[in-house]
Amino acid sequence: MQLNQKIYPIRFENFKVCGEEMITKKDWHKYYPSKDGKLTNWALRSVLFEKGGRKILIDTGFGNMPSNEFLAQFHLNGGFSLEKQFSEFGLKPADIDDIILTHLHFDHCGGCLSTEGDSVVSTFPNATLWISQQQWDTALNPKDKEIDSFHSATIAALKDNYKINFIQEEGGYLPGVLFQLVHGHTAGQIIPVIRMKDKTFLFGADLFPSSAHLDPHVNMVYDIIPELTVCEKENFLNQIVDNHYYVIFQHGLYIECCSLKRQKETIVIDKTFKICDLF
Ligand SMILES: [Zn+2]
Repeated sequence: MQLNQKIYPIRFENFKVCGEEMITKKDWHKYYPSKDGKLTNWALRSVLFEKGGRKILIDTGFGNMPSNEFLAQFHLNGGFSLEKQFSEFGLKPADIDDIILTHLHFDHCGGCLSTEGDSVVSTFPNATLWISQQQWDTALNPKDKEIDSFHSATIAALKDNYKINFIQEEGGYLPGVLFQLVHGHTAGQIIPVIRMKDKTFLFGADLFPSSAHLDPHVNMVYDIIPELTVCEKENFLNQIVDNHYYVIFQHGLYIECCSLKRQKETIVIDKTFKICDLF
């Protein structure tokens, strides 16, 4: 397998939800295209990369553990196959050494597990999971409006099927990867910053789920502390421009990755890219 210091996008199935849930603006349709009336179609993009001899994956999509009835409400579409994508890289799920779970909302961690008949097994049998302690504690005991964002059977099965490293604070736990923490969307969301040769990528997770969310005041209805998300985005936007990071959008269907620039008082997109074209 020859990843050789490259970062690859991995796609799980796209999902559809009401536009006003993903973008808390009355005129949300001005920020993100909709071809289905109130519904908007979003990507589920992860990245896979090799660094320091380790093969590392960030987030794992919905998986097949939630019931068909549960998944049906998201109108999954796209026809992506994890096996096919892995085989194109000469890889198997068993080759993955580490999985960084940015957080444990069902669309980010469900793919760690697979159902085989009546039993649940790990999709990546040799991987160690990296999760923040705050996020784990939240997932075990979610409050109020966040309850529906966790799939409790998945959370319980993660502990039974994986070795988990719980991180207590920000830092460099894997080669070339800085783990930063934000708390507005959910407590202890990890924002990974990945150094690859001469380029640095910030994985936007649910802090910057799409290019529309680069505007600090365009947020998701799921954020537990929206005003904190605004501050966190303002801080990160400066960090991204000052350090010339590329931003990867986990949920943006149309724009995969971009660079940013200052324009008068604001920070805006400079250029857009496909991740695979940056090497
Ligand atoms: Zn998400």
